[in-house]
Amino acid sequence: MQTIRKYDMDFTELIKSNRMSLTRSRVLLIKILYETDYPLSGKEIEGRISGECDLATIYRNLNAFSEKGLVQRILSDEAVKYKMNGDWKNKHKKSDHVHFECSKCHKLICMEELRVKDYILPEGFSKIENQFLILGICDHCNEK
Ligand SMILES: [Zn+2]
Ligand SMILES: [Zn+2]
Repeated sequence: MQTIRKYDMDFTELIKSNRMSLTRSRVLLIKILYETDYPLSGKEIEGRISGECDLATIYRNLNAFSEKGLVQRILSDEAVKYKMNGDWKNKHKKSDHVHFECSKCHKLICMEELRVKDYILPEGFSKIENQFLILGICDHCNEK
């Protein structure tokens, strides 16, 4: 509990300023996303939240956060993953970079230095967002 203290105010404020009702699980969720520098799936978050709330609550809150633009949904090979959006403190700029997923350890990594190119779409099509995923083996797993 002691480790949460330092951030409590900010997260509480963030949730309130987005006109969402304040719940303990929401504060915990935001804290976990904020402290992790790579996108997490609902299951991975469940593993870190140590029984505070169930998976259905986690997904419901993640969807609510995503509707408010607080988190970004990122497609991966195994699940949709979530990361805090860059508008708020840790610069995850929306969909402008490549994501890399390791087929061994299943970690999803933001490759912010690799920019997604803006493709010119055929007449009549309009883009909502780019999702660019590379599957492979990460540097850590390649060393083993
Ligand atoms: Zn790996
Ligand atoms: Zn990213």
